[in-house]
Amino acid sequence: MTLNDYQQKAMTTNAESSDNDTYSLFGLIAEVGELADKVAKGVRKDYLYIDGNDIHLRRNIADFSEGMKKELGDVLWFVAHFAQRFGWPLEEVAQMNLDKLADRAKRGVIIGEGDNR
Ligand SMILES: [Mg+2]
Repeated sequence: MTLNDYQQKAMTTNAESSDNDTYSLFGLIAEVGELADKVAKGVRKDYLYIDGNDIHLRRNIADFSEGMKKELGDVLWFVAHFAQRFGWPLEEVAQMNLDKLADRAKRGVIIGEGDNR
């Protein structure tokens, strides 16, 4: 499956009442929050722990891991939706991002500040 295939299939589940820019943006933010909430609850329940910048599953808890994946999938749906709202194929967005990062790496400015470095 390509990213564009995903986007096309995912958008078949888009309800007419959800097809607007504010739903798309706030939905994306909400789903990122749900993913963060999973991590917070995982720490609270001792399913995972945070070591520096790394999040580790403490045990192999399949349901919990699947729950995190589902939330990440919800984030992906809204990324695809937001791109669709602006007529951007998801692969174009992904390629643009890779090109930007490759250019930064080539110029030695991966670590730095500013969107247009
Ligand atoms: Mg969700």
